[in-house]
Amino acid sequence: MRVLALLDGTLADPDAPLIRVDDLGLVRGDGVFETILVVDGEPRELGPHLDRLARSAAMLDLPEPDRAAFERVVGLVLDTWAGDSEMALKLVYTRGVEGGDGTPTGFALGMGISPKVMAQRAEGIAAVTLDRGVEPGLADRAPWLLLGAKSLSYAVNMAALREAERRGAAEVVFTTSSGSVLEGPTSTLILARGRRLTTPPSELGILPGTTQAALFRAAAREGWTTEVAPIDVADLYSADGVLLVSSVRKITRVHTLDGKALPDSADLHAELAALYESEY
Ligand code: PLP
Repeated sequence: MRVLALLDGTLADPDAPLIRVDDLGLVRGDGVFETILVVDGEPRELGPHLDRLARSAAMLDLPEPDRAAFERVVGLVLDTWAGDSEMALKLVYTRGVEGGDGTPTGFALGMGISPKVMAQRAEGIAAVTLDRGVEPGLADRAPWLLLGAKSLSYAVNMAALREAERRGAAEVVFTTSSGSVLEGPTSTLILARGRRLTTPPSELGILPGTTQAALFRAAAREGWTTEVAPIDVADLYSADGVLLVSSVRKITRVHTLDGKALPDSADLHAELAALYESEY
């Protein structure tokens, strides 16, 4: 089941051709997107997702997304959805057609959640560390690299996931060349030690995660310490738990890193997953 709504407020057939061949989102990855989890008709963290869409668009010098129009198409997809209780809702916003009048292309696409993601939520994942080739300070020094923007240019992230598969793993922990932890290709990393949760700073040029923020809110309410601080790869091996979190995968535990088993974090994962759910 898929539902597609265009930014002008009309429904469209997701199986029919729609995007022009000269759309800059298609030919250059020149655009931004968000993926939102919807549970029982309720989008999670819709406000923070729309904030981040606007922030990413500003980083790419795109026209400011029409928030009310995006809210309307989200509503339209939700009202039309007749699939499972959970939906992944993708918002896409591109620079529009090359040489056109500058009107952006925008749409919202509701999709089911893949069985693979469902299994990873329950069973955890093996991950490998891969060098992202960035250093602290680069995001500020070279804003044209768009580090920390959720742009449509995810080919590098997808290539990293294929490299993980070649190495017998399902996920990636990106690192700086000097061994500082960044994020996953489509997820935020959180380290748990005692009753403390740590995530790397977005100033490193990574995406500020809405799921991480929600979990930190819930954890802080229950007396956990939450902090944003640099993490070294070596810290991952001595942690009580290493989590990769994102809207659709929710809270997922890493059980194996670079082929080495991490300490069993099944109970910790269950506690944190329940904490996250308590936000909704
Ligand atoms: N980091 C990157 C690079 C991502 O693409 C994503 C989401 O897809 C995340 C982190 C997690 O963000 P969120 O929790 O808001 O889904």
